[in-house]
Amino acid sequence: MTEVIDIQHWLDEDGLPVPSLRKQVLRIARLIESGGTLRVWQSRETLVECRRRVQRRACEGLLWVTKVDDGTLEAVCPNCLRDRVVVRGWESTEWATGPSDPIDLSVPVPDADHATTN
Ligand SMILES: [Zn+2]
Repeated sequence: MTEVIDIQHWLDEDGLPVPSLRKQVLRIARLIESGGTLRVWQSRETLVECRRRVQRRACEGLLWVTKVDDGTLEAVCPNCLRDRVVVRGWESTEWATGPSDPIDLSVPVPDADHATTN
């Protein structure tokens, strides 16, 4: 079964997940984060778990995401081929550019002493 999702339908006006759909949105967000920076017809493994059951047991596959064209990501479980998701409307989301930039925690934060003074 292929699910076709326009992520814009699951986001509010600020681009944040609609609260009742948060879990589903974050699953798709992980696909976008992994696939958004790919070139067309590149593919990579994600940490998104397959949701299907194979012979009454949860499939242990992880979805692979492919950029099919500039506006379409498609993810499939290579293990069972039964969990398949097409994602559209992702290009303007905060996840499209991949993981967030790192922050350097070795640099002292100004005024950090105030919070821990006893
Ligand atoms: Zn599977």
